[in-house]
Amino acid sequence: MDNLLDIRGLSVDFRSARGRIKALRNISLGVRRNRILGIVGESGSGKSTVLWSILGLLAGNAEVTAGEILFEDRDMLDLSRREMRARRGEDISVVFQDPMTSQIPVLSYARQMRDILYRRDTSAAEKRRQAVEIMGKVGIPDPEARVDQFPHQFSGGMRQRAGIGMALMTGPKLLLADEPTTALDVTMEAQIIHLLQELQRELEATVVVVSHNLGLIAELCDDVAVMYAGEVVETGEVRAIFHNARHPYTRALLECDPARVEGRSRRLPIIPGEIPGLIDPPKACVFADRCQKVMEICHREVPPEAVRPDGGIARCHLLEGPGHDPSWPPPNDV
Ligand code: ATP
Ligand code: SF4
Ligand code: MG
Repeated sequence: MDNLLDIRGLSVDFRSARGRIKALRNISLGVRRNRILGIVGESGSGKSTVLWSILGLLAGNAEVTAGEILFEDRDMLDLSRREMRARRGEDISVVFQDPMTSQIPVLSYARQMRDILYRRDTSAAEKRRQAVEIMGKVGIPDPEARVDQFPHQFSGGMRQRAGIGMALMTGPKLLLADEPTTALDVTMEAQIIHLLQELQRELEATVVVVSHNLGLIAELCDDVAVMYAGEVVETGEVRAIFHNARHPYTRALLECDPARVEGRSRRLPIIPGEIPGLIDPPKACVFADRCQKVMEICHREVPPEAVRPDGGIARCHLLEGPGHDPSWPPPNDV
């Protein structure tokens, strides 16, 4: 399979006064070229830590204890700081959740966008021309005038458009977005989703988007990775996962999603219990404490990786090995 990015066996700890927080444990994930991958999971499952690991921008108390992040077959974890910065500037860029905190309030967009191109040996006029062009591309009206404005002069949706424009200035191969629509209302959110989709197609970029919002994942993404408490529990093509989720956690998430139960009178199910502590995470199945299908083996042995028909994987004893249950998964009733 043609992957632009391959994360293999990645483990990341955060040092804390209470001990090491094992935020990512042995995760593997392929990102197909020219596709949009969504990473979904509850708060604290490690979604942002995956993105920051790819960017080489983990917090100072983080330690990568194992694994590789192969970008075009080169391990990003082996790059020097300088090489990493260059990659980040040119090949990989990021759209943040809240443009108000990621954009510089005292600099106009023209200036911020010019600064992004500081490595390019082109004139200031040419950089400005590119800034205007990209502002037009992301749907900012009258870009020639508005490029000279400051972030506070833009509405929330326009700011996020500009944020996407800034991320695209260098023509990156890989665009990362961490909850890009969380700060927006539903209408703006839909517009930003369509914009990302159009741009991805036009620019043939590869995109990884992190979101809590399954509706966004369903609409925007080609592939999805479901994370739970620092592990990837299921991956696959979006449509296949939505119609045939195999991991009990993915199924529980889909049942929780308002978009899936719209128009129905039943109350939204909630997944009882909490995400386990990451200082001393469960040794076997990470979802065992909350799983309705839990068996004795689930507390004892790490679940095997079962391959899904669409090429993805799911990690659950029900699917393979001594815990295999041929009646699982049940037909979809959601
Ligand atoms: P959310 O949906 O809330 O953004 P997330 O899935 O992005 O959550 P992460 O931010 O990746 O989750 O965090 C994963 C785990 O690592 C959490 O338990 C979090 O508290 C912990 N963590 C993240 N950054 C740090 C840090 N700098 N120091 C200590 N712990 C951290
Ligand atoms: Fe549930 Fe066991 Fe599967 Fe874990 S391995 S998700 S506890 S059935
Ligand atoms: Mg996050």
